[in-house]
Amino acid sequence: MNETVTNWAGNITYAAKELHRPGSLAELRALVGGSDRVRVLGSGHSFNEIAEPGPEGVLLSLAGLPPEVDVDTAARTVRVGGGVRYAELARRVDGQGLALHNMASLPHISVAGSVATGTHGSGVLNGPLSVSVREVELVTADGSAVTIGRDEERFGGTVTSLGALGVVTALTLDLEPAYEVEQHVFTELPSEDLDSGVFETVMATGYSVSLFTDWREPGFRQVWLKRRTDQPLPAFPWAAPATEKMHPVPGMPAVNCTEQFGVPGPWHQRLPHFRAEFVPSSGAELQSEYLLPRGHAVEMLHALDAIRETVAPVLQTCEVRTVAGDDQWLSPSYGRDTVAAHFTWVEDTDAVLPVVRLVETALAPFGARPHWGKVSTVPASALPGLYPRLGDFRALTQDLDPRGKFTNAFVRGVLAGA
Ligand SMILES: Cc1cc2nc3c(=O)[nH]c(=O)nc-3n(C[C@H](O)[C@H](O)[C@H](O)COP(=O)(O)OP(=O)(O)OC[C@H]3O[C@@H](n4cnc5c(N)ncnc54)[C@H](O)[C@@H]3O)c2cc1C
Repeated sequence: MNETVTNWAGNITYAAKELHRPGSLAELRALVGGSDRVRVLGSGHSFNEIAEPGPEGVLLSLAGLPPEVDVDTAARTVRVGGGVRYAELARRVDGQGLALHNMASLPHISVAGSVATGTHGSGVLNGPLSVSVREVELVTADGSAVTIGRDEERFGGTVTSLGALGVVTALTLDLEPAYEVEQHVFTELPSEDLDSGVFETVMATGYSVSLFTDWREPGFRQVWLKRRTDQPLPAFPWAAPATEKMHPVPGMPAVNCTEQFGVPGPWHQRLPHFRAEFVPSSGAELQSEYLLPRGHAVEMLHALDAIRETVAPVLQTCEVRTVAGDDQWLSPSYGRDTVAAHFTWVEDTDAVLPVVRLVETALAPFGARPHWGKVSTVPASALPGLYPRLGDFRALTQDLDPRGKFTNAFVRGVLAGA
């Protein structure tokens, strides 16, 4: 490849034979049909080699395709092109008086890449972003176009599919009427009294609630509560309201973050933590995340508290969220209401990896599933125990892509244990 392509974080330089940016569906289909190994690059916000085709493969960017966003106001759906990012999608959908059910911490990410890895926001009743998807349009290994809808059994493997089934050229998503959200930030939530009843209550005080800590001390430095204005405003007796605007990463400017202090605004300008026009998070970082059955939330917090002196020196911030269980076979929240522990690490792989392993050892007894798009050392041999439908997913890949055109080292590792 005569062009160096890295992920957003810069910790991965993708190995590939060629990079192509087809300008039309016909060009894309011809490229796929004529290549032996293909991986699609979304917006490159994953922290591992999930998108990498390898030195003999073709890396496909869909950035040259028309950015289709077709809203059907009567059906309350939107058909969105395979390269479109949430920022653009949300702006267009909101312009038609409609909304998505949730967003991740940032709107900069592509829709297809996000749902492929099980990306999620927070909220006890909110499933991952993939739950909105009702139909997937794929270009499969021989270059043919296939549409798979929610009413098909194989749909369970089709949305959170790690890019292993083909090129997602469009997705159709469910929408709902637009709503407003206000964001309240509280500081210093103690953890001593956080039994599972209190944890559940705290996480259910808003439509989407996140707890942040740097683990330098026990307890949480910040609580971000996003309330839909069509739902009641709860009391929040556990922590004090923030007296200034905050960024979840200590020392970073709050101007990068969405509006706080309870100012109501459109759903897509409050559900993400970070504004579309600013660098999200810290910009110099690695990330990991683990998703566990929610019933283990307090045990998880105790397990992390026990190693916090090792975790804190390489940590920028840790975010605890909830995700409602869903039915995508490879979703990290498949089949179980979930608590998620996210880690924004310093940008130093050598220093971070031993701590990642320590966190994984601490969380393994709870059946922690690693986020597909983040740094993890969980071995492939552990995956069948974590994903009961992994065998079905493998069968689906063999059906749609018998020669493994869309596999790479990452996907082969995932399928190895199935
Ligand atoms: C600052 C930051 C904040 C984040 N916050 C969150 C968060 O709040 N919640 C969360 O869950 N995650 C979060 N993430 C992780 C991120 O959402 C995932 O890594 C997601 O996959 C990013 O989407 P992408 O388009 O950049 O995917 P990429 O990294 O480009 O690709 C991911 C996978 O999708 C595949 N893919 C992409 N497009 C297509 C397509 N059209 N057809 C077929 N396959 C495709 C790729 O081949 C690859 O396998 C964050 C990441 C960053 C950098």
